[in-house]
Amino acid sequence: MENIEAAVEELRDLCDAHPGTQLFVEGSQGYKDSVRHFLDSSSEVAHVAIQPGTEAALAEIIKVIGKYKVPFAVKGGGHSMVPLFSSTKGIQIALSRLDKMHYNSSDQTVQIGAGCLWDQVYKYMAPFKRNVVGGASGQGVGVAGWLLGGGYSLKTNQFGLGIDNVLKTRVVLPDGRIVEASDESEEFRDLFHALRGGGNNFGIVTQWTLKTYPQTLAYGASLSFPESKAEEVKNAIVEYLETEKRPQAAIVCAFKWTLSLGKPKLAITVMSVFDAPAPADNLPFRMFSKLIPGDWGNDPANWGAQQAFMAAGAFSNAANIMPSRTEPADDWDYGIPLRPMSYEDVNAISSIPYQIVQPQTSTSSGAPANASGFNLQMLQMLVFQTSALQSNAIGNANALKPSKPSKPMLGVGELNARGRFGSIMVSRYTKGLIDEVARQAELASKFLSTNGGKHILIDVWPFRSDIFDKAAPGAAWPHEAGKGFGPLLVYFLWDDEKDDEFWLTLMKNTLETLLEVALAEGATVPDVAQYLNLSLEDVPVEYVYRGNLEALGRVRQKYDPNDVMGQTGGFRIPLVSF
Ligand SMILES: Cc1cc2nc3c(=O)[nH]c(=O)nc-3n(C[C@H](O)[C@H](O)[C@H](O)COP(=O)(O)OP(=O)(O)OC[C@H]3O[C@@H](n4cnc5c(N)ncnc54)[C@H](O)[C@@H]3O)c2cc1C
Repeated sequence: MENIEAAVEELRDLCDAHPGTQLFVEGSQGYKDSVRHFLDSSSEVAHVAIQPGTEAALAEIIKVIGKYKVPFAVKGGGHSMVPLFSSTKGIQIALSRLDKMHYNSSDQTVQIGAGCLWDQVYKYMAPFKRNVVGGASGQGVGVAGWLLGGGYSLKTNQFGLGIDNVLKTRVVLPDGRIVEASDESEEFRDLFHALRGGGNNFGIVTQWTLKTYPQTLAYGASLSFPESKAEEVKNAIVEYLETEKRPQAAIVCAFKWTLSLGKPKLAITVMSVFDAPAPADNLPFRMFSKLIPGDWGNDPANWGAQQAFMAAGAFSNAANIMPSRTEPADDWDYGIPLRPMSYEDVNAISSIPYQIVQPQTSTSSGAPANASGFNLQMLQMLVFQTSALQSNAIGNANALKPSKPSKPMLGVGELNARGRFGSIMVSRYTKGLIDEVARQAELASKFLSTNGGKHILIDVWPFRSDIFDKAAPGAAWPHEAGKGFGPLLVYFLWDDEKDDEFWLTLMKNTLETLLEVALAEGATVPDVAQYLNLSLEDVPVEYVYRGNLEALGRVRQKYDPNDVMGQTGGFRIPLVSF
């Protein structure tokens, strides 16, 4: 306690010396912005929170933390679900002010500050008609955590993981030095590659330089099917896997159970994107759209209506991903039909299954809820939500300056939502594995009403087998050419802390069974590297870094010999002496 008070005193002085850097104490809006996370269960009551305005200020902050050996946490977008990975009872560093972006048209790269969210990046890049390999299911996912862990994207089938598209990384080392690491920099090449999947082990990143690619209009849909269609949807997934070979195509199918009128209800959301204008023939995703009753089946792309719609100049923003007036109102329950859309819209619709949906308790309240309990008003809300937050920071000389709020996220810090991601790594999906995904989701859903559950979600997000083929060697996170693996995500959400143990145990059982089936189906191997961004906290760090662990321990010893980063949570790589 003495140490932390002394550290806070130094941080206050530091704020005076670094205008634009602010310290917040509990009760202020800036404090809340800094500590809140996607879920309440991963938010903590920090002693104080600080928002550095520059990397120079951040360098001074980490020196204070190292000097007093106090617990701390670094938050990018706050989407880690693991308690204490980016939250703390000590000093919360929130990077939201390091949010500058700069596109360099001469070499077609973009510099992105570590406080940015993917939503902001897509918006920034849109006018350049270029884009990065970034997070899917956006809505507040931070660039920082996503890129430090690996980064699976809707563009991964085309361009690999996020970490395979990083050219340069600026980082504040644990001793306060500010360095720029790249494959070209002889001095820091080891650091550059250690940061490609090495999490928060080597310092605090302030900026990435990323490759960009041309971005055209995309073509996509988010369809949501009721339980009665489950068998047909599973067969359609198999048909898709057997027939769709184009790298521009990606699907994410969420088997999601929520409570409706006290009973578990299934919605299978199939988010599909073809990251190019719709091809003239061989339109993608027809196996899904043909499952929709009525006109959508006959004209799965709704192409005729769309052409008229676009000709009228109406397709300029997210509102236009909503069903058009030409579609029968009854079919709205099936979601957003195939249509041309911007990548920002793709990002918006990809987040639909991950939103926190209040249990449906009445059939007569407001707009019609679709099969997932998701309705069009909610979509509007998530697409058009704007920051309404004002700061009332107290506690230092800069107290009256507004804080830099993160984009408000649905449910963050407002709902008593607790939850976790867990995953197994798979190289492919067989019908047997897809059946098991559906079965495990249904089995877990039986406990929703008895154990305060909010939702059960298991994803089928297939990737091509060649996704790691373009990866430059040397990354911290093992991903070898010819051995493409992707996470099979399990996501449980519940209400109350008293049920934590129940749901975490159930999740582990679910993951174990899925792993057994995946092994039996030849869809995984026992020693595959686990994906840290979607792993439960008790996954041993050895399982994340496998054969790279010891070498990474030596890199840590070189850059963090005093184990400053050991004062925060995360998958910690043990130091290895030379
Ligand atoms: C709704 C949702 C959708 C998602 N979609 C995807 C997806 O499409 N693909 C995918 O691969 N993953 C996805 N994820 C998982 C996501 O990659 C991780 O949750 C990731 O950690 C989020 O990054 P963040 O900055 O928001 O997290 P934070 O919670 O802020 O940070 C996560 C970790 O990174 C560390 N960290 C943050 N910033 C820095 C920094 N500058 N320097 C050093 N360490 C830092 C933190 O200390 C913490 O350990 C999703 C998660 C959610 C909740």
